[in-house]
Amino acid sequence: MEDIRIGNGYDVHEIAPGLPLWLGGINIDYHCGFVAHSDGDVAIHALCDALLGSLALGDIGHFFPDTSDEWEGVDSKILLAKVVEMVAAKGYRIGNVDITIALQRPKLAPHIPAMRGCLASVMGISPDRVGIKATTAENLGFVGRGEGCQVWASALVYKP
Ligand code: MG
Repeated sequence: MEDIRIGNGYDVHEIAPGLPLWLGGINIDYHCGFVAHSDGDVAIHALCDALLGSLALGDIGHFFPDTSDEWEGVDSKILLAKVVEMVAAKGYRIGNVDITIALQRPKLAPHIPAMRGCLASVMGISPDRVGIKATTAENLGFVGRGEGCQVWASALVYKP
């Protein structure tokens, strides 16, 4: 039987005015963005943790610490590419990933096809193996008040 493994990841970032909004690997035109040491792409961070978790490698903060100048303002796609290399180096391939983004504003539906295409390309897999869903928080809690974004991700990897 194939060696199949799964992982999950979770991340939160604060939203503030005047910052670029990077999410799912793409730049979305909006007057607010995520507060972070990197570009703040909270979806990619959760995805990286899901991939790392599938092989029990640790978490994104271990490999790319936010105290390091090296990763200041980094394009999170570079971090994802490095994580994908780690998975490949262990002899595994990515079966599929699935991401849920909770964000009150802006509406993400128009951007999801571009996000799927972008993340698929970074991971070297087909977009039909990249699920992305978006939800609001029905105006409840910190997400509902527009103060932050929460993302959950799952990843399945297998050894051919
Ligand atoms: Mg993060």
